[in-house]
Parts: sequence; structure tokens; C-alpha cells
Amino acid sequence: MSQAAVIDGAGFAAGLRGRVADGVATFRNQAGRAPGLAVVLVGEDPASQVYVRSKGKATVEAGMLSFEHRLPADTAQDDLLALVRRLNADPAVDGILVQLPLPKQIDEQAVIETIDPTKDVDGFHPVNAGRLASGLDGFVPCTPLGCLMLLKDRLGDLSGLDAVVIGRSNIVGKPMAALLLRESCTVTIAHSRTRDLPEVVRRADIVVAAVGRPQMVKGDWLKPGATVIDVGINRVPAAEPGKTRLVGDVDFDSALPVAGAITPVPKGVGPMTIAVLLRNTLVSACRREGVDVSPDL
Ligand code: NAD
Repeated sequence: MSQAAVIDGAGFAAGLRGRVADGVATFRNQAGRAPGLAVVLVGEDPASQVYVRSKGKATVEAGMLSFEHRLPADTAQDDLLALVRRLNADPAVDGILVQLPLPKQIDEQAVIETIDPTKDVDGFHPVNAGRLASGLDGFVPCTPLGCLMLLKDRLGDLSGLDAVVIGRSNIVGKPMAALLLRESCTVTIAHSRTRDLPEVVRRADIVVAAVGRPQMVKGDWLKPGATVIDVGINRVPAAEPGKTRLVGDVDFDSALPVAGAITPVPKGVGPMTIAVLLRNTLVSACRREGVDVSPDL
């Protein structure tokens, strides 16, 4: 029985990070400064701390400046907004990322809307969401842009393909659907109210699963040969008592004999998110300084 190709997201992300580092070197020569990324963490959520640490490390490894701002969990919204405004005005900062989720006293949307859209390297500001929906240049959220890069690397031209995106969040599902539409796919967005999800998924040449439900998408839901991008990151109990492991939203073992290609979890989509964040920061720095470093970022 044939098996799906396993898409090497970690390898692709390493390649992209290398191209970004080359671009940063050129940028530094031409602009006389390094690109800068400011990351703001409010509170002590353990997963967020890990993300922020790895973002800072990757930023420095790419030759950029990393500005980390750690604020206590009881920070008032006005204080956070004041920090964001200072970062908006700081010429050394090309990208601003406020790690989500935020503590409950803070309105996430108000924070996102305070970030200067030209420094919004996460692509969550409504101006950037609107620009994406209108087919204009802007910042695109890192995870879906990373998924698109993997898809184009695997399939080349996506025009005319049937794509099903499962999940409609502002962070993954909606921008993913907009990107696939921009590539001239026929796009279906499925969500928690979708009737007969297996039947909807069965039409798809491309399936992007961004749900947050471990191993929900089964192999017998897939059209044979489909390309499957699994965005889900779910921690489940491992066989060994007391241990846990990461799984995606796709049941990898049953999908493997049916799909044409599939991303694993971990080492699939996950590593692409930080690589694209670095790419977006370099792109922002280039736009600000009028420098052109590389056409294939
Ligand atoms: P979310 O909770 O905001 O959205 C989940 C979406 O799934 C919703 O739109 C909902 O309608 C849909 N949904 C829920 N139950 C469903 C069901 N039974 N059938 C069909 N649709 C259903 O989540 P999110 O932020 O979009 O993240 C989704 C997953 O991707 C999570 O596992 C998250 O950890 C992961 N994620 C990974 C990365 C990465 O870097 N790889 C980045 C962001 C999110």
C-alpha cells in the first residue's frame, strides 16, 4: 500500500530561517542597523513563556535585535497600551508581538488595535486582516502563511484545487482561507456547526485542520492523494503512565495510507510559525528603510 509523503516542516523552516539570516546580513550592511522585534509577555502562563523564550532566541540567531518586555499578571490595560504606544514610536522596533492569551482584565482586541499596523508582524490588526481579505499587501498571520509556503513547495500552482479549512479563528482558519482564495483555490471553511464534516472533507485536494481537537480528522474522511496540513497542537496522555505527547488534529496513522502528503506533529507546521515571524520582521524593517534584500522570502 502506498504511503503519504511526510512533509518536513522543520527542515523547510530551517531553510527559511537561513534565508532570513542572509537577508538580515544584507539589511544590516545597507541600513546600518539590525532589524528589531519587540515581544511583550503579560503574566506567567507556562506555554507562553516557552513561546516567548524560543521567539527571542530565534530572533537573535537570525542576527536581529530582540526586545523582551515581561509584565506582571495584574498589569492594568492602560499600562500595556502605553507600552505598545512607546514601541510604536521606537525607531529601533520593526515588529511588535504581544503574546496571547492575555489576562482577563485586558481586552485583547483593544491591544491588537493599538499596535501600529506597519509593525504588526503577527498580522492580527484589523487593517492587516482587511488588507488580506482585499488582496492587498500587508502582514499575514505567521501560522497560515507558513502553511501556504509548505503547500506551494509541495504542490506548486494551487489554482483550481478544492481546499477545505477546518476552523474559522482569526489567527489560523480565516486568514488561511483568504490565502487559499488568493491562490485561486475553491475554498470551503468548515467549523463547529458544519453538517457532515467527513463528507465536506472528502471533496478536498487540500485539507487544513486548525481545530484543537486531538486526532479528530480520520483517514477515511480523506480523498485519496489529498495534501493534509495539520495545524493542531494537542497534548494527550502517552502510553507510559504519567507522560504526555503531542498530537495534531488529524489521526496521523489512519491518514498516512490515504493522503498524498501530510505534515507531522510535532515538526510539521509548528516550526514554520517562528520562521515566518522572523521573515515578517525582516520584511517590516526593509519596508521602513526602503531596503530590498531578497525576492524569495
Ligand atoms: P480556536 O479554538 O480559536 O478555533 C478552533 C476552530 O475550530 C473554531 O473556529 C471552531 O469553530 C472549530 N471547531 C471546533 N470544534 C469543531 C468541530 N467539532 N468540527 C469542526 N470545527 C470545529 O483555535 P485556533 O487558535 O485556530 O487553533 C487551532 C489549533 O491550532 C489548536 O490546536 C492550536 O493549538 C493550534 N495552533 C498551532 C499553531 C502552530 O504554530 N502550529 C499556531 C496557532 C494555533
